[in-house]
Amino acid sequence: MLTQCYIGLGSNLDNPYRHVLDALKDLDSLPASELISFSSLYCSRPMGPPDQPPYVNAAAQLDTRLAASDLLDELQSIELAHGRERKEEQWGPRTLDLDILLFGHQTINNPRLTVPHRGISKREFVLYPLHELDKNLMIPNLGCIYRIKPRCYRNGLIQIKH
Ligand code: ATP
Ligand code: MG
Ligand code: MG
Repeated sequence: MLTQCYIGLGSNLDNPYRHVLDALKDLDSLPASELISFSSLYCSRPMGPPDQPPYVNAAAQLDTRLAASDLLDELQSIELAHGRERKEEQWGPRTLDLDILLFGHQTINNPRLTVPHRGISKREFVLYPLHELDKNLMIPNLGCIYRIKPRCYRNGLIQIKH
C-alpha cells in the first residue's frame, strides 16, 4: 500500500545546508519510495540547550510502500551516514535529524514511534514548512494545519528561498 508521509529534516552542525540538501536526495533514493515535494529551507532557533548553532530545517513529502517501522530504520541509517551521534542530552546539536511527522492518516503509538510526531503542533520549524507544502493538510487528532499554524509563534523563523 502506498502511504503519503511527511518527514521533518533538521541540522545544525558541520554545514547544515549541505546535510539537509543531501538528505533530500537520500530520501528520494529510499527503496519503494518517491520524494514528491519539499519545502524551502528555514533557519530556526535551537530548541533545548541554547548554547548551540541555529538550525536549518525543511519538510518533505514522501510516498512510500514501506511500513512505518521500516521507514524509521531507513531514516536512522541516513542519519548515521551523515555522522549523527546519539548523546544523553536531549535536543543537543546534530548533523541530521529525520523525523516522521505524518504517516498517512495513521496514529501510531509504540515504544519506537509516535505519529503524528509529538512536537508537531508546537514547533514553528515543523509547522511552517509543512504548511508551505499543503495549507489544507489534516493532522490526525489535531485538525487542519491552517487552523493550528496561527497559534504557533514564529520565534524568529526565517524562510530561506531556494
Ligand atoms: P524529537 O523526537 O523530540 O524531535 P529528537 O528528534 O532529537 O527529538 P531522536 O534522538 O532523533 O530525537 O530520536 C529518539 C527516538 O525517537 C528514536 O530512537 C525513535 O525511536 C523515537 N521516535 C518516536 N517517534 C518518532 C518519529 N515520529 N520520528 C522519528 N523518531 C521517533
Ligand atoms: Mg526531532
Ligand atoms: Mg529525531
